[in-house]
Amino acid sequence: MLVSGEPSFRESVDLMFNRAAALMNLSPGLEQKIRVCNSTYTVRFGVRLRGKIETFTGYRSVHSEHMEPVKGGIRYAMSVNQDEVEALAALMTYKCALVETPFGGSKGGLCIDPRQWEEHELEMITRRFAYELIKRDLINPAQNVPAPDMGTGEREMAWIADQYARMNTTDINARACVTGKPPHAGGIQGRVEATGRGVQLALREFFRHPEDKAKAGLSGDLDGKRVIVQGLGNVGYHAAKFLSEEDGCKIIAIIERDGALSDPAGLRVEEVRQWISKEGTIKGYPDAAFTENGAALLEADCDILIPAAMEGVIHLGNAANISAPLIIEAANGPITFGADEILRGKGIVIIPDMYANAGGVTVSYFEWVKNLSHIRFGRMQRRAEEARSRLMVEELERLSNDQQLGWTLSPDFKERFLTGSDELALVRSGLDDTMRTAYQAMREVWHGRPDVEDLRVAAYIVAIDRVAKSYRSKGL
Ligand code: NAD
Repeated sequence: MLVSGEPSFRESVDLMFNRAAALMNLSPGLEQKIRVCNSTYTVRFGVRLRGKIETFTGYRSVHSEHMEPVKGGIRYAMSVNQDEVEALAALMTYKCALVETPFGGSKGGLCIDPRQWEEHELEMITRRFAYELIKRDLINPAQNVPAPDMGTGEREMAWIADQYARMNTTDINARACVTGKPPHAGGIQGRVEATGRGVQLALREFFRHPEDKAKAGLSGDLDGKRVIVQGLGNVGYHAAKFLSEEDGCKIIAIIERDGALSDPAGLRVEEVRQWISKEGTIKGYPDAAFTENGAALLEADCDILIPAAMEGVIHLGNAANISAPLIIEAANGPITFGADEILRGKGIVIIPDMYANAGGVTVSYFEWVKNLSHIRFGRMQRRAEEARSRLMVEELERLSNDQQLGWTLSPDFKERFLTGSDELALVRSGLDDTMRTAYQAMREVWHGRPDVEDLRVAAYIVAIDRVAKSYRSKGL
């Protein structure tokens, strides 16, 4: 996909780091220490499948251990390689620092096309991969906590958690060894939607600031904004769904690996998703125009472009043709270093990956805390909160009656006021707070320093500064 002469994904991340580090006063040794990836473990293991032994290659990379455990997803894709895993691990370090989740950065991957294997085969492969990582403490609640990424989800995380529990029968915190588990297996409400929800909250925060919108030549709120999404997987689907159903955005195109759908009046995201899960392809979906060369639609006219599939999709070969004034990087690394320069030159505003898709790790953090505390969020306070609200409502109603004021509380207000926060409400509130706070931190640097031109450099500066402080205080 990359045009020749472009740096690799890891080099791209390093070059972006360097742009920011050049504006900071880091000692040369410390700068290098933060940039490099601490270790990458490669494992090749065999699984007996369909009458023969299949050998698989997997990786777990640890970028920075300035805080432990380290955190980062496990990806299943044929394109997984060491360079990619190290780039993603580095991004995790900066992402965790930016959104203040107390983790170092890590990432894992397995070279596999999950669609080629039956569920029970995938379970055997996943358990075997997990076994290899667990026995080296590369999965461990205190040291290294994976999560889902491309090609993996709740199901794989549940297998990993169970594998860890089988190998560590007396570890009371075993469930905290991995996040993104289904709720019935120690997961948390709101984790599946978290990354897409975070993209929505990031855009809402961006649209709260008139100067920021103006930099992209946009105005108003999200209502009616024309959006193009690439990748209708976990992240892209939730982002597109929430933006269209809750904020009034029009999803005018959805780009998938086998083509793209478009409709200037707005696509029905839920229906497209149902179609893909039933038919296994985007092709044949009625009521929308189909384009065989889906990637061409990255260049189409829109207000907001959301690459939510994979890295390197906006590169030297197509960057000059991109017409969206605002790009939010829901995927990790969708814009190469060279493309980033071209887009900035065109005045396009980019909300960078390390912030835009941090919703996943934020809610993973909540899940890890829940697992360590062994109690569901809201369990202690929800009914107490409701009882207090009821007291207030009853008192207001009594006053109104006694004084013959004729006030009545609307039923909708009463219902909402009397409902205590359950786990999902608390998770969403924590995520919203995180996305707002992190945006403010980036924004302060973006607007506060004349030498900082864009949100990506601002994000790196905030993140690197926090990692540097952590290294300075703990010693090396
Ligand atoms: P996923 O596997 O659920 O979905 C990926 C989607 O992209 C699939 O629908 C796939 O068909 C599509 N796709 C793949 N290649 C494509 C191509 N060349 N063109 C168009 N579509 C293509 O993965 P996901 O979990 O949604 O992850 C997507 C991106 O978001 C990745 O970069 C990942 O690292 C990043 N991310 C994911 C999470 C998470 O919580 N899942 C968190 C942070 C970042």
